[in-house]
Amino acid sequence: MSFEAELEKGEFSIPECRSCDMVIWPPSEFCNRCFGPVSLRRGEFEGKVIEFSRQDNLYFCLVEFEKDVRILARTSESPEIGKRVKMSRCGISNGSYFFQVS
Ligand SMILES: [Zn+2]
Repeated sequence: MSFEAELEKGEFSIPECRSCDMVIWPPSEFCNRCFGPVSLRRGEFEGKVIEFSRQDNLYFCLVEFEKDVRILARTSESPEIGKRVKMSRCGISNGSYFFQVS
């Protein structure tokens, strides 16, 4: 099961090394520290807005999950730095990842 296969189904998960418990980001099949196998942790992850920008009436924000995972996500509400957000939608569209938080 890969991060990408899960994302394609609309599921967000965090890849973690089974040997050293390190979060593997960007996602990879093997740990970049010990080459151990990576497993996916599912859950309701809460992130924090680090930065944001506005393009027309869309907001894009950089969201940090679990300290190591930084994702560029869309949001419809006006974001604030430090605000807690949850992944509301994610997937792969036209070959690229998309994430939406609220
Ligand atoms: Zn490892």
